[in-house]
Amino acid sequence: MKKRSILNKLKESKGSTSLVFVCSVVLIVILSALVTDIGYVAYERYSLSRNVDSIVMSGAQTLADSREECIVSIKRKVSGRIKGVSEMDIRISENNREITLLVKKNIGYIFLRYVGFKDKQIESRVTAKLSNVTSYTGISPVAVESAELSFGDKCKLTNSDIEKSKENDEPVLKIIPIDTQDESFKTSFIYGYRKKVHLGMNLNAVSGGSLNIDENSVDELIYKCRHEPLCSYDNYTLGCPRIIILPVVEKEDSSLDGAMKVVGFTAFFVERGNVVKGLKDTITLEGRFIRYTVKASTSDGMPDFGLLGVKLVH
Ligand SMILES: [Zn+2]
Repeated sequence: MKKRSILNKLKESKGSTSLVFVCSVVLIVILSALVTDIGYVAYERYSLSRNVDSIVMSGAQTLADSREECIVSIKRKVSGRIKGVSEMDIRISENNREITLLVKKNIGYIFLRYVGFKDKQIESRVTAKLSNVTSYTGISPVAVESAELSFGDKCKLTNSDIEKSKENDEPVLKIIPIDTQDESFKTSFIYGYRKKVHLGMNLNAVSGGSLNIDENSVDELIYKCRHEPLCSYDNYTLGCPRIIILPVVEKEDSSLDGAMKVVGFTAFFVERGNVVKGLKDTITLEGRFIRYTVKASTSDGMPDFGLLGVKLVH
């Protein structure tokens, strides 16, 4: 009798151990499914938000040129890059300085759908604000004097006085080489001046006629574009080295030779150019001023020279 009860007790305990085991396995499976689906939703949310941000950034660049093209390009990119879109809303402000994009999509759970959970809707909304650039790191060390700039038309920039007097149908604008202090002029010209330049800052012109630059420096700058197909002024990759950012300046005092105050920034697409060494070294850049956007500090109500900064607000 005593023996039997011990045996029964053993059997009972064995049974409850198996029950505990089975329950644990079921629990682990449910928890894993839950964790997997939570992770999946989090990943989808992140990926949607990244896509929406990058679509709005490139939309902001197109908006600098045309509102209609901006809408078409955003719609095309949303349908090309985001699967399962259930709703999309694009809003552009009257003054073309703000784009808001809202994208909603449905995602199906991987495991939880088998226990009755329905599809989940996720959404991402972002506003891109375009305003005037107040400071920029990486300018080309040549300044343009404040003037009405025409965008998209061929234009020649030069620091030579002789070229300036030979004006024909292609407009010629004077550029002023900037003293880059302890950084070589050539390095600043090819890679961009590494010091941050901001509105209201004083820049000095290079004194004397000699510039620390090589005869092939313009070609070196142009060949830094390795994009396929090669960039052109109306079809370029954002950040292309052939797009140079120039400070727009006003002479501080006409009696002073060198001092210039920064009043804005502009972007120029370099198509060709050369450097001629002589008594006075001359740089000539041929290309076009473009409307362009960069990531930079911005502020509203500044004079517009075509360069805008984009800020994303979530
Ligand atoms: Zn390029």
